Amino acid sequence: MPAISRSKLPHLMQREQERFSSAHPESRALFDRAQKSLLGGVPMNWMKKWPGGFPLFVDHASGAHFVDVDGHEYVDFCLGDTGAMTGHSPQPTINAAIERVKNGITFMLPTEDAIWVGEELTRRFGLPVWQFALTATDANRFSIRIAREITPRKKILVFNWCYHGTVDESFITLDSSGRGAARRGNIGPPVDPAVTTEVVEFNDIDGVERALTSGEIACVLAEPALTNVGIVHPEPGFHDALRKLTRRHGTLLIIDETHTICAGPGGFTKAEKLEPDFLVIGKPIAGGIPGAAYGFTQKVAERTSARIQTADCDTGGIGGTLAANALSLAAMRATLHSVLTQDAFEHMIPLAERFTQGAAAAIADAGVPWHVTRLGCRAEYLFCKDPPKNGGQAAAAADFELERYMHLHALNRGVLLTPFHNMALMSPATIEEDVDCHTRIFTEAIAELVS
Ligand code: PMP
Repeated sequence: MPAISRSKLPHLMQREQERFSSAHPESRALFDRAQKSLLGGVPMNWMKKWPGGFPLFVDHASGAHFVDVDGHEYVDFCLGDTGAMTGHSPQPTINAAIERVKNGITFMLPTEDAIWVGEELTRRFGLPVWQFALTATDANRFSIRIAREITPRKKILVFNWCYHGTVDESFITLDSSGRGAARRGNIGPPVDPAVTTEVVEFNDIDGVERALTSGEIACVLAEPALTNVGIVHPEPGFHDALRKLTRRHGTLLIIDETHTICAGPGGFTKAEKLEPDFLVIGKPIAGGIPGAAYGFTQKVAERTSARIQTADCDTGGIGGTLAANALSLAAMRATLHSVLTQDAFEHMIPLAERFTQGAAAAIADAGVPWHVTRLGCRAEYLFCKDPPKNGGQAAAAADFELERYMHLHALNRGVLLTPFHNMALMSPATIEEDVDCHTRIFTEAIAELVS
C-alpha cells in the first residue's frame, strides 16, 4: 500500500500557497487592512484556520456556490459548517425574512410563527415541548442547566473529542492515562472541566455504565454520531444501551442534532427512532439566520416548570434578549416548511453517496490507507484505513499538515471544504457536476501525493 510522500508535502504546499496568494490580491489586501482592527486580521478567531495564509473574503453567494472579492467562483461543500446546509440564501427563507424585517424584527413578545415551528419540530423529532435560542451552543447550555436543576445533580457526561459549541463543560478529552483533562487549546476554562464533567469514549457502553453508577451525572450530552472529529458512527445496539442505562440511573439524555440533521428531515433521532429527553438543533434551521431550538419531554417540562419562579425567570441563566426573536422564527418556519423538506433530502443524500463513491474510488485506485464515510447528506474522508470506533481513534488519524494541503489544493481549483477535518455537505442546490468536480480534483491531489 503506497504511503503518502511526506517529503513532498512541504514543496507541494508551498506551490499551492504561492498560487493562492497570487490569485487573491483583493482578499490579501483586505486581510492586511484587517490587521489593525480585528484580532489576527479575522472577525472570528477560528477563521485563522483556513489554509493559504489568509481567508478568502466573500463577495456574494447563492445556492451551493459563492464568489470571492477577486471574482473567483467556488463550489461550497463547507456550507458555513452546516449553517448554510439549506444552500446560501434559499428563496423561501429570503421572502419570509424580508416580510418580517419590514414588520418588526424583535419584540420580547411571541409571534404565531413560534407555535408553528414548535408544532413542526414535534412532528419531526417527537418531543412535545420547545424553547428557542440563538445558537446551538446556547440551546445545549440551557438544556444542561435544566437537566442539572431538575435531577438535581452537578455533573454531565460527554464523549471523547465531542464538540457541542462553546459549552464549558464539554471541553474535556481523555488524557494518555484515560482520565478527563482540559481539551488542548481550551481558552480560560472557569474550572478544571474534570470537576463538571465525566468523559468516556463513544461506543464504550461499559465506560458509560461505570460513569453513571456514581449517581452524580445529571445528563449525557451526545451527538448521535460524532461529526466533529470526522464521522464516527454508533455501533449496533449503542443507542439502545445508552438509553437503557441513562434511564436506569436517572440521568437525562440530550441528543444534539445540530449536525446530524444531515441524516434526514427528523435527523438521526427520527431515522433511528431514538427517544431522548432533550433534543438540540441549531445552525441550518433558519436557513443561515441565527436561530436554534431545544425540545424536551412532557415530564421534563413539568419538572422544569415546577422549579422556575416567575419573579426570577428572566435572570435564571436561561435566556438571551434576542432569543426567539420574530425574524429567527419567521426564517425557521419558512426553512422547515419549504427548504429542509423530505424532497430536499431525497436530492441531497444521493449526492453525498455519489461524493463518497467518487472519493472511495480515488482512494482505492491510489491505494492510500484512507477511507471515506457518510451520514445522510454529509460525507467525510479520514486519513486512516478503517473507520474509527471512537473519538480517540478518529483524533489519532488527524493530520493537520495533510489536511491543509488537501483543502488548499481544492480551494485553488474552486472547491471549498471546512477548515476542520475533511467534511463535505450537500445542499438542496448542489448538483452532480459539483460533486464530480470535487472527485476530479481529489483524485489529482492524491495522485500527486503518491507519485
Ligand atoms: N453542536 C454541534 C454538534 C456542533 O457541531 C456545533 C458547532 N459546530 C454546535 C453544537 C454549536 O453551534 P453554534 O456554534 O452555532 O452555537
